[in-house]
Amino acid sequence: MDLSTPLTYVKGIGPARAAMLEAKGLTMVEDLLAYVPFRYEDRSNLKTIAQLAPGEMATVIADVLSAKVAGFKRRSLGLFEARFVDASRAILLGKWFHGGYLASVLAEGMKVALFGKVEFDSYSGEMTMLHPEFEILSGDDEDGEGALHTGRIVPIYEAVSKVTTRLLRTLTHRILQSIDPLDDPLPPHIRQRLKLPDRWTATRHTHFPPPDGDLRLLNAFRTPEQVRLIFEEFFWLECGIALKRSSAKLLPGIAFEIDDRVREKVKAMLPFKPTGAQKRVIQQIADDMKAPRPMHRLLQGDVGSGKTIVAAEAAVIAIENGYQVSVLAPTEILAAQHAYYFKQILSKLGYVVMLLTGSFTSREKVQLKKLVAEGLVHVVIGTHALLEKDVEFKKLGLAIIDEQHRFGVLQRLRLVEKGLTPDVLVMTATPIPRTLAMTLYGDLDVSVIDEMPPGRKPILTKHATADRVEQVYSFLKRQVDEGRQAYVVYPVIEESEAQAMKAAEKMYEHLSREVFPDIPVGLMHGRLSGEEKEAVMQRFKEGRIKIMVSTTVIEVGVDVPNATVMLVEQAERFGLAQLHQLRGRVGRGAAQSYCILVTEKMNDTARERIRTLVESTDGFYISEMDLKLRGPGEFFGTKQSGLPSLRVANILRDTEILEMARREAVDFVERPPARDDLTRAVAYIRDHWQRRYGLVTVG
Ligand code: ADP
Ligand code: MG
Repeated sequence: MDLSTPLTYVKGIGPARAAMLEAKGLTMVEDLLAYVPFRYEDRSNLKTIAQLAPGEMATVIADVLSAKVAGFKRRSLGLFEARFVDASRAILLGKWFHGGYLASVLAEGMKVALFGKVEFDSYSGEMTMLHPEFEILSGDDEDGEGALHTGRIVPIYEAVSKVTTRLLRTLTHRILQSIDPLDDPLPPHIRQRLKLPDRWTATRHTHFPPPDGDLRLLNAFRTPEQVRLIFEEFFWLECGIALKRSSAKLLPGIAFEIDDRVREKVKAMLPFKPTGAQKRVIQQIADDMKAPRPMHRLLQGDVGSGKTIVAAEAAVIAIENGYQVSVLAPTEILAAQHAYYFKQILSKLGYVVMLLTGSFTSREKVQLKKLVAEGLVHVVIGTHALLEKDVEFKKLGLAIIDEQHRFGVLQRLRLVEKGLTPDVLVMTATPIPRTLAMTLYGDLDVSVIDEMPPGRKPILTKHATADRVEQVYSFLKRQVDEGRQAYVVYPVIEESEAQAMKAAEKMYEHLSREVFPDIPVGLMHGRLSGEEKEAVMQRFKEGRIKIMVSTTVIEVGVDVPNATVMLVEQAERFGLAQLHQLRGRVGRGAAQSYCILVTEKMNDTARERIRTLVESTDGFYISEMDLKLRGPGEFFGTKQSGLPSLRVANILRDTEILEMARREAVDFVERPPARDDLTRAVAYIRDHWQRRYGLVTVG
């Protein structure tokens, strides 16, 4: 047996269990060894029932004497009671409130391990455990493996469908018994310097801690053995990223020239004085562009921080050097928005800016593509339609990607293939905590705009329940009377865009006819054609529409400084990041802006989200809360997001180990002790980690 042995070869795993395990991505021995306990229980303090004293935490092994939902008086509570007896012949009472489900779990005659706090129940005069942890020990106890489950620090696994923690413990133990000791792939000098245990010891002790194991450390995932496994997972990931970065740096790129003439052009284009942060960031970008290797830079900045103008400066540099620029946006509305903005500021320099989206007719597309191929268009702005194979540039020099967190790594690469090796600038408004950014965008250099344009007043955020919506509407009316504009947004639930559109349409009717009969109201939703969307947007921009009713299509983009109210209906249905993005649509002018979150029914996390937004406008704080409330998996959505699936490590819990692993990996790739070590590492990553981490090319 070795790491790549299919799990079906392990004794005790038949087709049914194998299928359950496979559904969780566990197919070979290596997978099961990487499926580490999520907590540990100290069952070494094993006592007989007769020895129990009130107040102590203890484990007993006993037989079920009786088990039932307790008498009629308590039935409403669903109180489940079981009596246990062991060799000491004393009785222990177990009680579970709302324990009705246990009727089909615990039955007379079973042997169980119970773990919990001992109390003396004066009512019955019996020793009692309230809601003890328990594990059924009778059953497939072969090979004397019973000792695995008690009398020691016991690993607790998350059950995989019907494969229980107990069974997982048994299976893992069997594997560790029959497999040859594992080799250690970590470079020895790193292991020695960091005093990391070898992989074999680490694996065994993480599953089955030795008798002197420290329970507190174990449950914090900080024993040297656990740290070693976490480190290893991060280390290979970071090595992969570092290799990818260094090979990207070897590619020949364009060395743009930035002389006084180019600088003058940039100055002539700027409609305002850049903030200090914008200046710093454009300097970093300019340095990248001058260098004869391709730029791979992430431009991070909160909504409204002024990323677009920075991108436009980079565009001027490229165009003045005789190159074309592409701008890729995640939605049509944002593409249209960028096109509007870029046309406005770049046409005064005589540049040709064009929009290309999926909703164009094929004839329009053909014509446009021809112009692009002939180099007659300086800036092409579009959605994923830009990524189609037949879009060819004459001389693509700069690819700007407004990611807003929607494009995955792969799409980024596809665009890059289009030019020779154009410089790439990715813009994102999602302020990802720094360590995460380094991992998620590990192959990019990062610039941050951490300062808002001057004269902005912080947006006031208020929460109102739906029964007070009339007051909210009169507030809206007063704002419009003062000459301002407002958004009213409805949630789009992914599978029912049609329904959301209906809701928005109905609301539009209601608002335009009954609530605001004298105010021009507009409607925007995802089913409008690109042209229609652009037309509505345009009318809102020009102030002819005062209130824009919309589904979440306006979530990104839209730059109307006169809009001062963002009213979100059913705000409890939106995610934190989404609400923060929506809020960023206002507060772009000098007047005080407001975000009003109207909710219908909320659960606890929704309440927490709303509270976070009312309290804070700090994108980084909000992003961190979001990550905490949703967990990394959901936060990053699909695999597409580029975040690798981690097994042992947890990106929230193990940040400092990630940082250490990153430092070591960068150092190792840049200064390997010997050429051989690096070659070996590259081969190892290619064989073991490339597929899992989605590292497209390594070494
Ligand atoms: P982002 O893309 O980062 O969300 P934008 O680039 O859309 O932000 O900028 C938001 C608004 O702020 C725009 O109206 C833009 O013209 C304006 N703006 C950006 N930088 C400055 C600045 N330095 N001074 C004044 N206004 C600015
Ligand atoms: Mg923007």
